[in-house]
Amino acid sequence: MTGIVYKSTGSWYTVKTEQNDFVACRIKGKFRIKGIKSTNPIAVGDIVDFDLDTTTDEKLGQIHTIHDRKNYIVRKSVNLSKQTHIIASNIDVVFLIITINNPVTTTSFIDRFLVTAEAYGIEAVLIFNKIDTFTDEVADEQLFLHYIYSTIGYTCLRVSAKAQHGIEELKAMMKDKVCMFSGHSGVGKSTLVNILDPALNLKTKEISDSHAQGQHTTTFAEMFDLDFGAKIIDTPGIRGFGIVDMEAQEVGDYFPEFFELKEQCKFNNCLHKDEPNCAVKKALENDEIAWSRYQSYLKILEGDEEHYRADTYDA
Ligand code: GDP
Ligand code: ZN
Repeated sequence: MTGIVYKSTGSWYTVKTEQNDFVACRIKGKFRIKGIKSTNPIAVGDIVDFDLDTTTDEKLGQIHTIHDRKNYIVRKSVNLSKQTHIIASNIDVVFLIITINNPVTTTSFIDRFLVTAEAYGIEAVLIFNKIDTFTDEVADEQLFLHYIYSTIGYTCLRVSAKAQHGIEELKAMMKDKVCMFSGHSGVGKSTLVNILDPALNLKTKEISDSHAQGQHTTTFAEMFDLDFGAKIIDTPGIRGFGIVDMEAQEVGDYFPEFFELKEQCKFNNCLHKDEPNCAVKKALENDEIAWSRYQSYLKILEGDEEHYRADTYDA
């Protein structure tokens, strides 16, 4: 049988079958995935094949195969083994919830987030929340960001969880997809999820009551079905969107507005910093690239680790 992992506690995996049954699975024997050194072999979002235990009426199974992942997000483990922990996989779209001033979401934070999403190979969408609180000044600032990010290809949407504005548009973007919500604490993630599907809290309870068997559920990622036909991966206790190690040369690959320009730089290993005849710098001077984006690029290039952590880990 085939199913999707909705929850993992490290030893048990809750798998939802194509027939919409939840089966509590263990892993069969030693299970290693080639090329990935992680502390957990299977993560929420994985598509797995398993054998159903026919000796019992309880829905139990053994996972024997994992399908190829289209992407996955990781957390580096803090111990010295340098192993990674896979938080979730097969994510279709990650929504970054942004508020302009309450709390402040900086362009530096947005850009690091987008670079990480690009590096993971996950589509990112920017959701500007709390538009009901906008003064003219804040509205102007939002319009500016909207322009910057939509110009370079990111879908942007203005919503108000409170006034229930833009919710139908958001649902349409989420439909039939595996989604994640990210963003600083206080931007309205929980409020939005509650409005998207008010019955979700109830469902959450039902799922954990029947399968969790008294385990703590808070520190593990978990997938939920929303009633309009979307899935959402919740990652309580996991702050931020992870860190991706990258070479200096790679950083520019994750800035979509650099793509076509790179070819025109004099040096094919141009870092777009101080090199002569750099097409990116030239575009910057001509206002074809946003200053804030270029500043973020430089910051990431410099590997301002502390700043990076402070920003992305305040989730
Ligand atoms: P989270 O930390 O991202 O989950 O944020 P919450 O959902 O807990 O929201 C933080 C605060 O912002 C709460 O007091 C919400 O009521 C409030 N809030 C959320 N969305 C909106 C909105 O669209 N407009 C206004 N005015 N307040 C909102
Ligand atoms: Zn260049």
